[in-house]
Amino acid sequence: MSTPLDFGHKNYNHYGAYLKKKYDGQRVYKIIADGGFTCPNRDGSKGYGGCTYCNVDSFTPELSRRLPTIREQIEQGMERAIKNYRAEKFIVYFQPNTNTYSPTHYLKMMYDEALSINTENIVGLSVGTRPDCIDPEKIDLLESYSDRFDVDLEMGMESIYDDTLLKINRGCTHQELENALILADKRKIDICVHTIFGFPWETQDMMLKYAHEINRFPQIKFVKLHHLHIVKGSIMGSRFAKEPFKLFTIDEYTDFLAEFIPLLRPDIVLQRIFGLSDYELLIAPNWGMKKSQIQSYIDKGLESRGVVQGSKYIPEIISVL
Ligand code: SF4
Repeated sequence: MSTPLDFGHKNYNHYGAYLKKKYDGQRVYKIIADGGFTCPNRDGSKGYGGCTYCNVDSFTPELSRRLPTIREQIEQGMERAIKNYRAEKFIVYFQPNTNTYSPTHYLKMMYDEALSINTENIVGLSVGTRPDCIDPEKIDLLESYSDRFDVDLEMGMESIYDDTLLKINRGCTHQELENALILADKRKIDICVHTIFGFPWETQDMMLKYAHEINRFPQIKFVKLHHLHIVKGSIMGSRFAKEPFKLFTIDEYTDFLAEFIPLLRPDIVLQRIFGLSDYELLIAPNWGMKKSQIQSYIDKGLESRGVVQGSKYIPEIISVL
């Protein structure tokens, strides 16, 4: 087990501090690339409609939705990051849809193209996908970039319960995540999983068990934690309009994180602790704050509650399922 990182003035290992330390204080930003992929639970191979909470536009910036080529997306994304944030280095992030859902030779063409633009300033490749779209050949391809770039494979865990995965039309079981984690173990790629908290049928006790399940896999280096938010254009959005249900308030969610983060392994880096779509797409919950305000509100809440990542970590738990 690696030692905890410098928390960087927060009560948990956060991605900003991780990047700062890893890249000697240089400003590193993710540039989103849309390779035009789809998902197996959208195109009919496993289902239609996608995950019920998903409207892919809700996490794709306007810029990458309009741009036709990878080169244009990346060049313009870099320009924007330099202008707005004085970015110095970049991580190319294939985010929308399932970015390993194509033959390996096609994936190689896409990744190669993206990484050939302003190569000297690209430090990483991050690929967002589903566990059921990972196989040994794709892991080999991702690992082949690791001599030049940091490679981050991001997979949706969403829930650890198959009942939930079925209800949200995920088209994928928790066992498939476990299989993908085993395939990626001891390879030169970093693994990130993301989770969603707040499905109305999951209790707090059920959600806290996600931490124990994540902790079981030492190959998980990063996590992204999201609260359930309902967006326009999603199946859940249409259902919510007819039958609204209880969602986290910001204080309830902070209370939940204050219970969850102490259970997490102390070496895990939290890339994100809440989700937020564009406000024009967001139905609920609307916490009425900008992203930076939400971050600061939650961080202050965690600090005032004396939260410390890993302080309640239980190493000996084998499985909670
Ligand atoms: S959440 Fe991910 S896997 Fe599910 S439909 Fe949306 S893009 Fe596809």
